[in-house]
Amino acid sequence: MLSPFMDPAGRRISYLRLSVTDRCDMRCLYCMSENMTFLPRDDVLDYDELLRLARVFMHQGVRRLRITGGEPLVRKDIGHFLLALRPLLGQADEPGRLDEITLTTNGSRLAEFAELLVRAGVRRVNVSLDTLDPERFTQLTRRGRLATTLDGIRAAREAGLAVRINTVAMAGGNDTEFDDLLDGVEKSELICA
Ligand code: SF4
Repeated sequence: MLSPFMDPAGRRISYLRLSVTDRCDMRCLYCMSENMTFLPRDDVLDYDELLRLARVFMHQGVRRLRITGGEPLVRKDIGHFLLALRPLLGQADEPGRLDEITLTTNGSRLAEFAELLVRAGVRRVNVSLDTLDPERFTQLTRRGRLATTLDGIRAAREAGLAVRINTVAMAGGNDTEFDDLLDGVEKSELICA
């Protein structure tokens, strides 16, 4: 077994974020330009390589894995990859296995993937949501639709996934909406953790 990863303070590193794509179906103002040039596909690790990489990190002490992008659910055949991760999960503290697989998403394809995520052993997802105003949502994301993301959140909850909302606070962007977003959270309209 390789030596476990340690941070400069001597703590074991047990959490890995694995980005499966740099592509996304949105173009949030703070994240991407409108006309993006993405990596050539040959420069992105294929699924076998990503699985191997995850196993290498697990041998070095990683126990929690987060799948990210870009937007992970836009990558072709992502469902097969997610299901291939399932055997990496073990019982709590089982040596050499993962305790948890999570996913960060913009929610645009969550309705389509919610059931599959549950079958893949995912128990919770983080969904990016910066506003509850449909027009502002499309302005901030340049091409997203609020209704689609909210449908995704609803489907995730119905499938049994815990949903955590990630909001980027923007002065002059969404700073009039924090109360509404928090209200939604408190009334469990947006979150179920
Ligand atoms: S949804 Fe996420 S990855 Fe996509 S453009 Fe917005 S912030 Fe970036």
